[in-house]
Amino acid sequence: MDRIRMTVPLVEMDGDEMTRILWQMIKDKLILPYVDLLTEYYDLGLLSRNDTDDRITVDAANATKKYGVAVKCATITPNTQRMEEYPQLKKMWLSPNGTIRSILDGTVFRVPITIDIIKPVVKTWEAPITIARHAYGDVYKGVEMKCDGAGTAYLVFEGINGETRKQMIYESPEQGSDGAGSVVLQGVHNTERSVRAFAQACFRYAISSKQDLWFSTKDTISKVYDGYFKEIFEQECTNYQEQMSALGLEYFYTLIDDAVARVMRSKGGFVWACKNYDGDVMSDMISTAFGSLAMMTSVLVSPDGPMEFEAAHGTVTRHYYRHLKGEQTSTNPIATIFAWSGALRERGERDGNQALRDFGDALEIASLATLKAGIMTQDLVGLVEQAEDGIVPRSVTSSVFLDEIALRLKPL
Ligand code: NAP
Ligand code: MG
Repeated sequence: MDRIRMTVPLVEMDGDEMTRILWQMIKDKLILPYVDLLTEYYDLGLLSRNDTDDRITVDAANATKKYGVAVKCATITPNTQRMEEYPQLKKMWLSPNGTIRSILDGTVFRVPITIDIIKPVVKTWEAPITIARHAYGDVYKGVEMKCDGAGTAYLVFEGINGETRKQMIYESPEQGSDGAGSVVLQGVHNTERSVRAFAQACFRYAISSKQDLWFSTKDTISKVYDGYFKEIFEQECTNYQEQMSALGLEYFYTLIDDAVARVMRSKGGFVWACKNYDGDVMSDMISTAFGSLAMMTSVLVSPDGPMEFEAAHGTVTRHYYRHLKGEQTSTNPIATIFAWSGALRERGERDGNQALRDFGDALEIASLATLKAGIMTQDLVGLVEQAEDGIVPRSVTSSVFLDEIALRLKPL
């Protein structure tokens, strides 16, 4: 059989630990036999980032701007523990996702991958809840300081027109005799352009997927910062109101704590727009409540058009250590497969390559068919409530699971 040809490269960002192992297995077993894969490869593994002083991450993000579509493997964000584990690290490199998102800007859309035989933990949920996570700024671009001793902290803005604004953040209770100990400070920002693009992406996604749009912040406490997000969403809402109404869709704003309570009582089937940190936390809650961290798609949509497909979970470190000891692990590759299928389909759509588009669909159909046949990884087996047609769910290794998908993979 002729392999599917590609005309424009896909930006391939390799990663770390167990997901790096799955990455290669997915390519070998599910993609390379069918697709004459054309990629521009960037190794975002921790040691490669270290060797290049993290230049490789910036290059990969810029290549995504150039070619339009990227697929990314999960990567380690080093912390103090990793600094001990990898003594050769020159510094505690920043989160690659943070770096990429601040270059591409945009919104990350995360949708749970659901199958009939696994019911959501929340009984009322009848349809998946999509998280739309703003991908720029806030604490992910925060500047922090820990100061010892008494003192005063200010927020200062120096305008290029000469205007300076200064506001006190904190003052020690009594200068010189401070009983409060050290003080920790944080400066965060966002921009109108980024928030507006976030709002527009959310309305467009809600309209194209025909779902209501919810948005939540804490504007009662953060009247200026969160209040600005709310204001921009309201302005953008007027631009999309007609299209939304024509489809019977609603835009609904509420406080984040109220939103959490309402989500738990909802039927699902809407887009929940969240600020960067809220989206980070809530997408893990939503994916786990629908099944597993590994059963969620994640795509970064940049306002200028590029898209980066990834898994929402991390590098699954505990499984990797077992893999290093020679154990065959049962790590769920679904989210990583769907990152590949999404990226190949998008590449196909942009290049008018029908065969590549169809292959993306076929890969997902085969993956879901395997799960429906009761063949799954360890994380899912215990979640099957009532298997149909006498199917007894069984847990297999990642390698066997991918072989089973390959057996069901019939390019359309
Ligand atoms: P994680 O890798 O998502 O894993 C947390 C736990 O969730 C695992 O120990 C495992 O539970 C379960 N899990 C996650 N994905 C799974 C899968 N595909 N199949 C089966 N079980 C899965 O998160 P973490 O342990 O907090 O972080 C590990 C590393 O990943 C860190 O260095 C972090 O910086 C990085 N990270 C990267 C990204 C990214 O690049 N997108 C995102 C988050 C974290 P059991 O061990 O109980 O089986
Ligand atoms: Mg996270």
